[in-house]
Amino acid sequence: MSEPDLIICGGGIAGLTAALCAVKAGLTPLVIERAEALSEVGAGLQVGANAMKVMAGLGLDDAVTAAGHTPRHLEMRDGPSGRTIFSVPAGEAGRRRWGALHVNIRRAALQQVLAAALKARAPEALRLGIEAVDYSLNPDGVTLHLADGSQMQAPAVLGADGIHSALRHRFGSGESPNYTGHTALRALVPASAELRALVPDASIAWTGPKRHAVTYYLHGRDLINFVGVVEQSEPVPEGWHTTASLEKARDAFAGFAAPVRAILEEASQARRWGLYDRPPPSRLARGPIALIGDAAAPMPPFMAQGASFAMECAWAAIWSLKATGDFTAYEQAMAVRGGRILEAARRNGRFFHGSGLAALAGYAPVRLASTLAPGRIRQRFDWIYGHDVTHGKKIK
Ligand SMILES: Cc1cc2nc3c(=O)[nH]c(=O)nc-3n(C[C@H](O)[C@H](O)[C@H](O)COP(=O)(O)OP(=O)(O)OC[C@H]3O[C@@H](n4cnc5c(N)ncnc54)[C@H](O)[C@@H]3O)c2cc1C
Repeated sequence: MSEPDLIICGGGIAGLTAALCAVKAGLTPLVIERAEALSEVGAGLQVGANAMKVMAGLGLDDAVTAAGHTPRHLEMRDGPSGRTIFSVPAGEAGRRRWGALHVNIRRAALQQVLAAALKARAPEALRLGIEAVDYSLNPDGVTLHLADGSQMQAPAVLGADGIHSALRHRFGSGESPNYTGHTALRALVPASAELRALVPDASIAWTGPKRHAVTYYLHGRDLINFVGVVEQSEPVPEGWHTTASLEKARDAFAGFAAPVRAILEEASQARRWGLYDRPPPSRLARGPIALIGDAAAPMPPFMAQGASFAMECAWAAIWSLKATGDFTAYEQAMAVRGGRILEAARRNGRFFHGSGLAALAGYAPVRLASTLAPGRIRQRFDWIYGHDVTHGKKIK
């Protein structure tokens, strides 16, 4: 392999997307990933229309759509009664409004689409089992310091190493991730004929007191993704490896409407995933090095935008590097947007967990607006899904 123009630290959604953008830009990227294999585990992700425009820019929108499922609606429902608070058309209507489809897909399937495309376009661009621990700047670019004591050198580096990023401590924030007091219970459930008849074909946030659930179909409606977020003070580790008690999960959502209960009845296992928050670093870029994805803007999943924003970051960072030679323009473009999505996610977290009068006061106006002026509800999503990071930022 020739010397890389760019080393990308981390082979998750952000890192693989950035590598594909770099290849499109005519650069030679090298992705280093600390894991020995790209993990096959993971639950579902919603890839918003904003991120599907990045996939289209890379020629991968059809592959992602084929590996996932396009819901007919995006909805919020009152968890206990099942009553619809609002319902926004997705599918073709969403494509017409936002310029791309909204696709729900298993994280592993998305990673596989990205990794396969990278292997086909730049066969030597991914190296597994290499961990970065720090970096330093030098007159020719960046020196990466690796866990085995060796070093790597490149004119530019992207830190795509997730919420626990080893590289971000030099970006103006030393704060560690904090447990948010929320734990996600995640399950993938085969969609039996009975479930298909009961569970609407929509991405649904079911609100409730001190808890909410998110449900949607995956993989051509073969599977249902369940995420139940409960308030729990005792911290739970992140990751796909902590088993949850199905009995406790069913108890937590026993007061919810029939579709939610039925999904949990059919689940054969569930995992617990502690949700962590970390203040964004004060800078996203320092000359020839920048942070993208969760390393740049870790956010709670209440806007379902972490991976989507990671893809936007990847595009904007490579465009900036190619067009200007560094990541200053990337930082200018993405810092404000990342902050806005983070704020919206935190607001949703509070809104989803309403109860009693406060919930009524919060949901009633939305329900009314949804009935009287549905266009106004759709409009609320325009800034997020209608955004096109590839527009005016051509990578060639
Ligand atoms: C319950 C839940 C539901 C979610 N739902 C959605 C959703 O619907 N839609 C959405 O868009 N997002 C969602 N997200 C968020 C989304 O999963 C993340 O934002 C996204 O995966 C971040 O991607 P990333 O590539 O930045 O980081 P990661 O996926 O964390 O990848 C980082 C990679 O870097 C590697 N790495 C780490 N440190 C090093 C190192 N020092 N050296 C080398 N390699 C390293 C890691 O092994 C990993 O492969 C959800 C998250 C949760 C918890």
